[in-house]
Amino acid sequence: MSSSRRTFLYGLGAVGARALFAIERTEPELILFNGNFWTVDARQPRAQAAAISGGRFFAVGSNDEVLALAGGSAKKVDLGGKTVLPGFIDAHSHPAEAGLSHLRMVDCDLRSIADILKALRERAAKTPPGEWVLGFKYDDTKTAEGRPLTREELDAALPNHPVLVEHRGGHTAWTNSQAIKLAKIDDKTPDPPGGKYDRDPATGKLTGHVREHGKDTFEKVIPATFTRDDRREGVRLITQMMTRSGVTSVTDAEGTPEDLRAYQDARESGQLSMRVYCHIYQAHMDQMLAAGVKTGLGDEWVKVGAQKMICDGSISERTARLSQPYIGRPDDFGILVTPEEELYQQARKAHAAGWQLGTHANGDVAIDITLRVYERLQKELPRKDPRYRLEHCTVVNDSLVARIKALGAIPTPFSTYAYYHGEKMKEYGPERVNHMFALRSFIDAGIRPTQASDYPPGPFEPMMALQSEVTRTDTKGNVWGPQQRITLEEAIRVGTIHGAYASYEEAVKGSIEAGKHADLVVLGRDVFKEDPSNVINIPIERTMVGARWVWES
Ligand SMILES: [Zn+2]
Repeated sequence: MSSSRRTFLYGLGAVGARALFAIERTEPELILFNGNFWTVDARQPRAQAAAISGGRFFAVGSNDEVLALAGGSAKKVDLGGKTVLPGFIDAHSHPAEAGLSHLRMVDCDLRSIADILKALRERAAKTPPGEWVLGFKYDDTKTAEGRPLTREELDAALPNHPVLVEHRGGHTAWTNSQAIKLAKIDDKTPDPPGGKYDRDPATGKLTGHVREHGKDTFEKVIPATFTRDDRREGVRLITQMMTRSGVTSVTDAEGTPEDLRAYQDARESGQLSMRVYCHIYQAHMDQMLAAGVKTGLGDEWVKVGAQKMICDGSISERTARLSQPYIGRPDDFGILVTPEEELYQQARKAHAAGWQLGTHANGDVAIDITLRVYERLQKELPRKDPRYRLEHCTVVNDSLVARIKALGAIPTPFSTYAYYHGEKMKEYGPERVNHMFALRSFIDAGIRPTQASDYPPGPFEPMMALQSEVTRTDTKGNVWGPQQRITLEEAIRVGTIHGAYASYEEAVKGSIEAGKHADLVVLGRDVFKEDPSNVINIPIERTMVGARWVWES
């Protein structure tokens, strides 16, 4: 195996900084052998063993080559022929917020409105009258009743509490009369800019369903009661949930300074089991800019990411801003949350201060606007390697793809939506769906899209992402946008090395290579031998981050 021999030598220090590293540590601490490694390293795609030292891969190669490095103290782990992949990188999710939601809110990922009302009532029974009862992960398309929640049934079930039930996508919510009263709106209140208070078309009465900035009106009156300890605990909880599924790194796509602190607190108390690249939402940027903070500050565990901005609405809640209306709603083109000039002003300040930019843009109109802002910035204040991020970048066309390529921008499309949210794709129509989560188009154009769950809106399990991207098939067997299918090998690259590239970390993670962080996942079955429609059922046996097993089944 000459190729592995080459990497073996490379690992021993053929290259500058690594030579120093190898001299300092002449003996590995841990050797994993007898594995079926898919490394995502083009120089050596397959291997049997890896030696690890100081939290990093020290050598990768055949059993013989790597075991020969073992001194007396090295611990050896026989992987029993199991398949090993690099740890997965979820390039867009909301872990800090999700952790807090799991601590405090009612998980409404249930399959009937009756069950949801029951869960909310149970919480209300333990909540003093007048205090908020909050739900999350409600999905209007997944309940047996085949219709959304109503204000009236929330009123009847919880007459003494204000209620807000957030859609799984996070951009819309269902509220009751007590909540509407506290939000100080009524049937005559006009919609806020960039948002909607839905009304009954016949009577003009508020339905309690509120969207985008309409939801913000309610959030402003919900007291924030989380302590610093709660936030750390939320991070502990969510990192445990995610690493169990094989995720070893995440980008928090809309962090706040408090989230950044929570990740550091969890890390200091030994509870952060995955690496975090933390975007900062633009509303918090003044604080960051005043302190001279910019993208990249931190270390391999907690690092400051991009400035996050929002251009339009959501795909799962059907508020993305589109050039053509939603199917069946000829006047509905979605919601533009931030107009172009305002987005440009937000972006310019951070760009000038050395920040990477990440803008939530789902619909083709929003992607066009965001690209125009980036193109303008790159002309006015050119930066080398800015890696502009298009968060989601869902509905594209050939000309948008060409502009993304020309700019070197990075799309982070939803990885699990074709599988998990298939039923919502009807509202986009087959032609448009063939240009959504457009991994095939991106890869063919030489763009580096990432794996991204957007959790809570989408499930974060990497095996579901692989299956969804390869099959484009939902739970009922419906196929959504078959033109955009990619191969399993491509899907793994999307979920590993591309994610590392999106956070400027491709030199230190995203593949199993000497010198990189020892982040990996051991699968119960070989994903390359599995029926593509059954990949989701492959058990995750072990997850390693920085040479530590953070999950063992
Ligand atoms: Zn998001």
